[in-house]
Amino acid sequence: MTSVITAFPDTIAAIATATGAAGIGIVRLSGPDALDIADRLVGGSGTAARQKPYTLRRVTVRDPRTGEALDDALIAVFHRPRSLTGENVVEIQGHGGMVTLHRVLAACLASGARAARPGEFTERAFRHGKMDLAQAEAVAALVSSQTVAAQRAALRQVSGFLSQRVNEAASALQESLAQIEASIDFPEEIGDADPAEVDAPLARAETITRDLLATAGYGRRLQEGITLVLAGRPNVGKSSLLNTLSGTERAIVTPIPGTTRDIVEEALNLGGLPVRALDTAGIRDTDDPIEEIGVARARQAVQSADVVVAVLDATSAGISNEDTSFLQSLAAQPYVITVNKADAVTPDALREMVRAVRVADKDAFIIPVSAVTREGLTALTDAIVKTVSGSGGSTSDDTPVVTSARHAAALESALASLQAARTTLAHGLPLELIAVDVHGAMQNLGEITGATTREEIIAGIFARFCLGK
Ligand code: GDP
Repeated sequence: MTSVITAFPDTIAAIATATGAAGIGIVRLSGPDALDIADRLVGGSGTAARQKPYTLRRVTVRDPRTGEALDDALIAVFHRPRSLTGENVVEIQGHGGMVTLHRVLAACLASGARAARPGEFTERAFRHGKMDLAQAEAVAALVSSQTVAAQRAALRQVSGFLSQRVNEAASALQESLAQIEASIDFPEEIGDADPAEVDAPLARAETITRDLLATAGYGRRLQEGITLVLAGRPNVGKSSLLNTLSGTERAIVTPIPGTTRDIVEEALNLGGLPVRALDTAGIRDTDDPIEEIGVARARQAVQSADVVVAVLDATSAGISNEDTSFLQSLAAQPYVITVNKADAVTPDALREMVRAVRVADKDAFIIPVSAVTREGLTALTDAIVKTVSGSGGSTSDDTPVVTSARHAAALESALASLQAARTTLAHGLPLELIAVDVHGAMQNLGEITGATTREEIIAGIFARFCLGK
């Protein structure tokens, strides 16, 4: 169990902005002596304490040891507990650049501050109840997010939407537990708990847990990215599509079938998902031993893909038996069918082709595109994202996405405990047994928000933060 520590004795300081040449750079102080230390730097006792909080004041920052001017800066003070960390906080907003920032930081350290450890500001915010553990973890995810979709998910979590859902589930469990415990402790007065009344909150908590878990696959993909494989017969335009999707000319495009013999890889960002896109050799029967190696690798890549884009050629007028068996071979994994070279045929011929594909595959996304004119590429991107994201991709602004493996594991355990509790209840077994599992589920949910997280796990989480956060 974690306890809320009310006061840290020391004041910490760090450069809060990325170092390097930049217009502005910020050194942040937090702790009981933050205002006094700031006074020493801006030459005037009590000036920081008297400064109106949450406003900026222009100052000359000086080295208190020599009196030398270090920077022309703005200073902001935040009084506890209404600050980021819940402590007194001072931000010195000066010029960017390594030398200036390091000299200002050194002056803070010479005036009594200690260099902050990575994540220590956020940790203090957590310890002072300014945010829970899931929110604190999301701060790290937010600053390191690589795509818009990952950034959006992190921001929702910083805002507390995940914690809110987890807390709703936890209070439902509390409700059920209160009934169980009342009936155990006061059998005479209360009598037997009504199983339906004990179960209703458990069912609610189970739904919330399941809904959150349903977003975890998408959440993991937001972090780790997905592997997309372009597959299909030679010359249908796989390399051209990859080039068009990535906006580069990396893959070799030629009108001679069978020229992409090995796998070409490209990093893409499709609808906010980081994507490793692989262009494979055309899949066809061949006598050429080198091409055969490429075909074998293509089949292997298809099998391990998170999503396959099966490319067909609109100019081939209908689909061959080879196409049909290729589509059937994909049935076991997520895929999208695209009919390429839409620009090279009449609208009627294109419709006819799409109809023929629909006969062969009645459920798949079938997207006509042109690698040349780019038509249909947005629809293709949407179809890919929908195919890999499950329910997570179409969430609204306040719907949390579970992006952390730690949270997903805690939710899995909570779900298992909840199911055990409900089964025990349904079998009419003693309430004490149910209480054990409900307690277990609460423990699991508390690990997400930090209410029940072990100290070494919390320390590990903050240790992975960057310096100055
Ligand atoms: P791959 O073997 O499947 O990788 O096919 P390529 O990308 O090498 O393309 C084969 C041929 O089709 C080349 O001559 C391309 O210029 C042509 N091609 C590819 N995509 C399109 C398209 O959307 N429209 C048209 N008109 N031609 C295309």
